[in-house]
Amino acid sequence: MFVFQGNNLLIRGGLPECDGLPEEVVRCSLDFPSVWQDLPSWCEVGEDYAPREGEEFIGLRQVWHRWGEETFVRAGGAWQFASWWRNVRICSFCGEGLLPSETDHGRRCPKCGRVFYTPISPAVIVAIEREFEGERKLLLAHNTAMPRGRFSVLAGFVEPGETLEEAVAREVREEVSIEVQDIRYFKSQPWPFPHSLMLGFTALWKAGELKPDGIEIGEAGWYAPNALPADIPDRASISRRLIDRFAAAPLRQKD
Ligand SMILES: [Zn+2]
Repeated sequence: MFVFQGNNLLIRGGLPECDGLPEEVVRCSLDFPSVWQDLPSWCEVGEDYAPREGEEFIGLRQVWHRWGEETFVRAGGAWQFASWWRNVRICSFCGEGLLPSETDHGRRCPKCGRVFYTPISPAVIVAIEREFEGERKLLLAHNTAMPRGRFSVLAGFVEPGETLEEAVAREVREEVSIEVQDIRYFKSQPWPFPHSLMLGFTALWKAGELKPDGIEIGEAGWYAPNALPADIPDRASISRRLIDRFAAAPLRQKD
């Protein structure tokens, strides 16, 4: 049982999944129809719940560092359901209160019959490599929303009507004004901040010189494996895995 208070997870006895229910539960997935019991169970406690002895609240990101990726994904998925239930309570068409579906993990409006699902926002993230100045180099950029001095690979949300490859090419063009080629899927990662699904890609530089848009991207450059910026994303993120992948070997083997 994952126990949430807003964006935080209750740790009891040093464990992220608690046995039994705490007092003062506001909402609990165990009260839902049986199809919901296929998912990791979760409940929410109110803002006035104060941790007892042996309990503490931690942020979701800490889960990755303390218990690894599998637990992070389980907890993050449970949190996405919990936060959706907390934030969306009524049918957006007719205003009736939503009820859990008996047949899947959606919620049904008892008045107009419409069904709603937990939102997931696909976002692409891409490592771009270029043979440059006699070395292979990776494009890293400082997004203005990041802490000062941090550099990472480029990312952006997929837009309606777009393939993932088109989203990669468009984001790169918009953010740093270059063209890429040979876009290939790497791997994905659920990223519950608040409900993204990160889809990782690698690509090769094709044309153009870096010109940061000055709005989202403040600075961008090409970095050799042995000269990466000091501040790059932590190991919980797929961005870091893309950077580590580049540092370990060329993103593409030459023909
Ligand atoms: Zn309705």
